[in-house]
Amino acid sequence: RFSTAAALEEPITPPVTIEHIKLLINGQFVDAASGKTFPTLDPRTGQLIANVAEGDIEDVNRAVAAARKAFDEGPWPRMTAYERSKILLRFADLVEKNADEIAALEAWDNGKPYEQATSDEIPLFIRLFRYYAGWADKIHGLTIQADGPHHVQTLHEPIGVAGQIIPWNFPLLMFSWKVGPALACGNTIVLKTAEQTPLSALYVARLFHEAGLPPGVLNIVSGYGPSAGAALASHMDVDKLAFTGSTQTGKIVLGLAAKSNLKPVTLELGGKSPFIVCEDANVDEAVDLAHAALFYNQGQCCCAGSRTFVHERVYDEFVEKAKARALKRVVGDPFRKGVEQGPQVDSEQFDKILKYIKSGVDSGATLETGGQRFGSNGYYVQPTVFSNVQDDMLIAKDEIFGPVQTILKFKDINEVIRRSNATQFGLAAGVFTQNLDTANTLTRALKAGTVWVNCFDVFDAAIPFGGYKMSGHGREKGIYSLNNYLQVKAVVTHLKNPAW
Ligand code: NAD
Repeated sequence: RFSTAAALEEPITPPVTIEHIKLLINGQFVDAASGKTFPTLDPRTGQLIANVAEGDIEDVNRAVAAARKAFDEGPWPRMTAYERSKILLRFADLVEKNADEIAALEAWDNGKPYEQATSDEIPLFIRLFRYYAGWADKIHGLTIQADGPHHVQTLHEPIGVAGQIIPWNFPLLMFSWKVGPALACGNTIVLKTAEQTPLSALYVARLFHEAGLPPGVLNIVSGYGPSAGAALASHMDVDKLAFTGSTQTGKIVLGLAAKSNLKPVTLELGGKSPFIVCEDANVDEAVDLAHAALFYNQGQCCCAGSRTFVHERVYDEFVEKAKARALKRVVGDPFRKGVEQGPQVDSEQFDKILKYIKSGVDSGATLETGGQRFGSNGYYVQPTVFSNVQDDMLIAKDEIFGPVQTILKFKDINEVIRRSNATQFGLAAGVFTQNLDTANTLTRALKAGTVWVNCFDVFDAAIPFGGYKMSGHGREKGIYSLNNYLQVKAVVTHLKNPAW
């Protein structure tokens, strides 16, 4: 049961040594002004990995000043776009060269399987930077026909200093979604990493400087949300804020931006995404896909298919097979080969998930499998499946952010549309059917920023991602993200001789 292949013996030593634990300000690794540090812990054991410099208001001020200078005095925004593009490409090459070490840091700090980091996340990270390197020299405005004797054009200019705050579930991918487009457009950056996972961003930021990024263009402040994060969100000299994290914190940072200088804010927030299995679906395929949609990354995905709606005709078969699949899930040390699920990121998430599991049992859902911690060390949770879940149960409403699948039953398509949309969130949805009309109806009716049909979690540098409703504002990735980091200036020039 759960990982016969991977008993939790002595933790495997990660294939990387930690070199960077300081803040990166103006191209230099520096201590926090206060001299303080905070611990980043190994989720496999709860033991210390490293003490990292703890940025606070004064460090954010220093970082913003460096980013401001790098923006106002250059050379970054004034460099040719082709030069900027080449630096992004050189960076991507360096990441590729050091991929194994970077993946090891990511897996160690977060608890995700090393194989997942090497096969999925680092390749997408690299692809993102190559994609935005391609955009750098293709950003341009329009010439516009207006009434009257005027030559009218728009200039697409970088906004200035971008403040970026990212979460711990995909530290590197969130870094790439934010840093790639901002740099391609010629902005400078102060990025605050999540306190649970500060290590990988510091490593790759060093590679950026090796690739030729001028000092001050990308500054990294490790630290806590209410101190360093809030200082960045409310800074008067930050021109744009991009945030990924919980809906609750999203509301706070939006308020801080409004109360300070009204900087524009993009938000990528939480979700409770429906995964809809129609009666005509191939049940075996749907079970596998629904399993991956929920359990990937220990269930710590903002777009996790966390409400599995299954048509009543295939419900019992689906539940049986979903349970069997969860029982086969290989849980264990993320550095062991073949492991599909590592520990949750920290004790807070671990406790929260176990509370939700208890609430599921208490509210009368059927616990098909799992429900306990896995092993006795670290933050591992058994893959858990609930059936007979009702819409008003907490486990069907809240974002659990853990390996807990909740399976709900539906009768007809209008009902499942109504129930799928009856949530404050609108990040993603999955539709599993062989009927084209059913697929078309659902893709149009579902209020979600992404609808995956007969697939799930397809991420690509070019595909936009973001939420409806309280799942966020704006879109990241693809061409859409460029708009987040550009100002549009209309230039209207009087024509003396409009006939020509
Ligand atoms: P969180 O909101 O607690 O933290 C996210 C970031 O915000 C961290 O860097 C944190 O330090 C910072 N922060 C916390 N309080 C702050 C404050 N008062 N001011 C400024 N910054 C503050 O979220 P989390 O628990 O780290 O991440 C999990 C959440 O992120 C989930 O809800 C998940 O759905 C969401 N998420 C969304 C996406 C997406 O693209 N939509 C992607 C990944 C994660």
